[in-house]
Amino acid sequence: MTTIDTVVIGAGHAGLAVSKLLTDAGREHVVLDRGRIGDRWRTERWDSLHLLTPSWMTRLPGWGYSGPDPDGYLGAGSFVGLLEAYAASFGAPVVGRATVHEVAPAPGRGAARRYRVATSRGTWHARHVVIATGPHGTPYVPAGLAGTDIGRVDLVTSNRYRNPGRLGAGGVLVVGASASGLQIADELNRAGRDVTIAVGRHTRMPRRHRGLDIFWWLENTGRLARTIDEVPDPVAARAETSLQLVGRDDHERATQDLDLGGLQARGVRLVGRVEAVEGRTARLRDDLAATVGAADAALDGFLDSLDRFVERVGLGNQLWDSPRPRPVSVASAPTRLDLGAEGIGTVLVAAGYRPHHPWLRLPITDSDGTIRQRRGVTPAEGVYVVGQRFQHRRDSGYIDGARHDAASVVSHLLASSGSGSLAAPLSDAEEPAA
Ligand SMILES: Cc1cc2nc3c(=O)[nH]c(=O)nc-3n(C[C@H](O)[C@H](O)[C@H](O)COP(=O)(O)OP(=O)(O)OC[C@H]3O[C@@H](n4cnc5c(N)ncnc54)[C@H](O)[C@@H]3O)c2cc1C
Repeated sequence: MTTIDTVVIGAGHAGLAVSKLLTDAGREHVVLDRGRIGDRWRTERWDSLHLLTPSWMTRLPGWGYSGPDPDGYLGAGSFVGLLEAYAASFGAPVVGRATVHEVAPAPGRGAARRYRVATSRGTWHARHVVIATGPHGTPYVPAGLAGTDIGRVDLVTSNRYRNPGRLGAGGVLVVGASASGLQIADELNRAGRDVTIAVGRHTRMPRRHRGLDIFWWLENTGRLARTIDEVPDPVAARAETSLQLVGRDDHERATQDLDLGGLQARGVRLVGRVEAVEGRTARLRDDLAATVGAADAALDGFLDSLDRFVERVGLGNQLWDSPRPRPVSVASAPTRLDLGAEGIGTVLVAAGYRPHHPWLRLPITDSDGTIRQRRGVTPAEGVYVVGQRFQHRRDSGYIDGARHDAASVVSHLLASSGSGSLAAPLSDAEEPAA
């Protein structure tokens, strides 16, 4: 058993951001990961995945992307390389292959409260625990699919998908039309597979608007910095679907949109949400037109608000108009699919994720598994969390946003243990543009 001041659980970008700030403050700590640095990018992403955020939006405490293509989109492997270099730059004390099995109050009655962190590589006792295991605990499989006997059809969740060649033969029913579902459907279609997408609630987004990447707009209109206290419905805000976007390294296609209309034109069939798979029949909702209509209306309203911003700040003369994305037009869709007759061999579920912390033996989670927190401070004294979706700002779950939550968590940790606050708050270079 090792006694230490702080244990950080998770060596993704969020855990490393915390480690950098603790290192700068001279605080003893260890970063435990069940795998290696950036493990989810190595083991839970498909081979062709590129970040959908442009490289300039890859800022961590004391570090920012300085490569040749700030407007490009990093491949997952390149991003892991950057995380490794970042960790090496300050000697992050990462202990890999240490799966955390339990975080619980440590026994004993000393004055200082301690936590017991039991792992596959030994036990640590710590005054502070920072949970940085990511916003994507476990893939969500809709109730009508979970535990269903779908016969000889394979059920694959998006975190297990690698490339078209690794799927079984036949057509694919993709469940979910957010970023993951659309990117995978696009790749399968290009590989010659018959693809059907069961379209759930989604957020349609063009790659560019008036010549600028959509993340330029999200940042410069203040949307990424909007806090949970500023939104009318925090529960809905935290349940927002991911943006229907793709990042590509191929410059010709980098600016092209990925949307349901384009996929449909290339032969992908669109159907409504899957309610259940019974035997070999998928029961579908008759909601396709309503779902795509709602997404198109929301997109239109969003682009209107960007155009109002252009007028307000007087950029109208400098930015050209761009045509609005065309609404997706859908024919009537079936409400039942016979998977056998359709030749569908795989149901690929890309329906998002749910929180999952089975090792957390502290009364700090809601009934849905979400860790209760305010600015990363949980109800258990000395226990913190970083990297959750919309933890405080809208960009909390993005790579670029973790630095803000890491800074407030480390400030609180230092102040509560009598070490003042962060010696060096975020520099201007690391703060988003005004
Ligand atoms: C498909 C996909 C694409 C994304 N693309 C982008 C993008 O382009 N841009 C962007 O900004 N964001 C993107 N995100 C969102 C987000 O940035 C990533 O999910 C990111 O990986 C989250 O970083 P993190 O450090 O919070 O957690 P993770 O990267 O998930 O790191 C958590 C770490 O904790 C470890 N861990 C988990 N459980 C345990 C345990 N019990 N014991 C020990 N270690 C444990 C894991 O091994 C992992 O290394 C994407 C998400 C997904 C799913």
